[in-house]
Amino acid sequence: MERRAKIMATLGPASRDEGVLRELVRAGVDLVRLNLSHGTQEQHRETLLRVRRVAAEERCHLPVVLDLMGPRYRLGQIPDEPRLLAPGQEVVLGPESSGAELPVDSGIVEHLAAGERVLIDGGLIELKIESKAGDRVRARVVNGGPVRTRKGINLPDSALPFEISDKDRSDVAFAVAENADYLAASYVGEAAHLEAVRAVVTAAGGRIPIIAKIERATAIEHLAEIAEAADGLMVARGDLGVEVPLYQVPVLQKKIVAAGRLAGKPVIVATQMLESMIEQPRPTRAEATDVANAVLDGADVLMLSGETAAGQYPVAVVQTMARIVQEAEDYAGQSSERHTLQPLGHVHARRTFEMEPDGHAADDELALEVPDMVSAAAVYAAEQLRVSRIVAFSQRGFTARLVARYRPRSPIMAFTPDERVARQIQLVWGVRPFVAELQVGSLDDIVQVVERELLAAQLVKPGERILILMGHPVRERPLTNLMRVHRIRGA
Ligand code: PEP
Repeated sequence: MERRAKIMATLGPASRDEGVLRELVRAGVDLVRLNLSHGTQEQHRETLLRVRRVAAEERCHLPVVLDLMGPRYRLGQIPDEPRLLAPGQEVVLGPESSGAELPVDSGIVEHLAAGERVLIDGGLIELKIESKAGDRVRARVVNGGPVRTRKGINLPDSALPFEISDKDRSDVAFAVAENADYLAASYVGEAAHLEAVRAVVTAAGGRIPIIAKIERATAIEHLAEIAEAADGLMVARGDLGVEVPLYQVPVLQKKIVAAGRLAGKPVIVATQMLESMIEQPRPTRAEATDVANAVLDGADVLMLSGETAAGQYPVAVVQTMARIVQEAEDYAGQSSERHTLQPLGHVHARRTFEMEPDGHAADDELALEVPDMVSAAAVYAAEQLRVSRIVAFSQRGFTARLVARYRPRSPIMAFTPDERVARQIQLVWGVRPFVAELQVGSLDDIVQVVERELLAAQLVKPGERILILMGHPVRERPLTNLMRVHRIRGA
């Protein structure tokens, strides 16, 4: 079976080189992520150019996800670093960079209150706030350790505003200028935060689908509305495991994947998937099991972070992940453990997933009952008829996404005229993009074109059945309303 779950590699010093990039693609990378929390726009522009060059050479559709830093807080300059904090010790957080104070970004303190936790360095260090006076708080060290300049601060108990920083605004403008395929929005807590990021994208003159990173407790409370508003979700387990108790993360992963699947939005499972391979050529058994379980949970994409950005074995880690995914999918395909879902039914898609090659109807609500029902019926028919491919004509990617939601055994080919849609649809489980001009002609003409293209690409053999989904009549560009089963005759 062809692998269905996708692999996303974060690029960094270990993988920016064009030779390594090419090997990553050959090893199975389907998407790449650039983390804007690190590096300069100039570096990212150079990496992007290399990605586009390698994708053209390798004849693949390699989408780029630009991950915004989001409203993150950090310690300021600590002159005598590392400063050792001992459990039970009292510390003052405030604006001073000198003396015994722990320097924090201005603006944090006003959101803090007694009784709340301050977590430093991924939660390794925990402080509890005891009192507040002016622009300083007094806190007691619960878990101690060394603290250093610029270490991240998480405030899981505090009511924090969602402010879009000047850096994020500049990075959005960069993403628009560079024609990024996706943005990932960090630290969103509710749908309104996502809309705020979307407004910045629109103001910058762009239209980029946005993946909501789920990494705050408040985002869990608003999961359904975020899934509705976003174009994809990411289980950002790194920060999530700091913001909520670590032991909740495995179950939250399942809930976030389920929320995305229910809403028909792709879900990425991220962080520490094969972490030990940053330094070792083989993963731990627990990591291999984690990768397989994310597949069985129904994730669309599995993400590598430090493993490919800064690790010693960027190519081997992708090969390892691809192999584990394949084994898990072979098992899932044979077992009765398949993910079946009810049709969306009455649901109207909001104007998310803004894959509008011609700007058509971008702000409309799209009634998806008919395409969704046709997709559900097509997956049922594909199963019964054992078709070798489901071909979805997809101007904007909607139909391919709707079909993927039902997790068919047959691979899905998304035929689209638009290169950008082809790249973006790579985020979706089991969908392989295919750029082809949508022929306006009779249904039979269209079927012949599909047959010819698939045979030429050696994706079908004579005698196999395929199932085609499209909106007909094509020239009116209706949403998907037609299903056709066709046996490949061949030349
Ligand atoms: C995470 O926290 O898991 C994550 C993916 O975010 P980042 O790597 O940007 O911190």
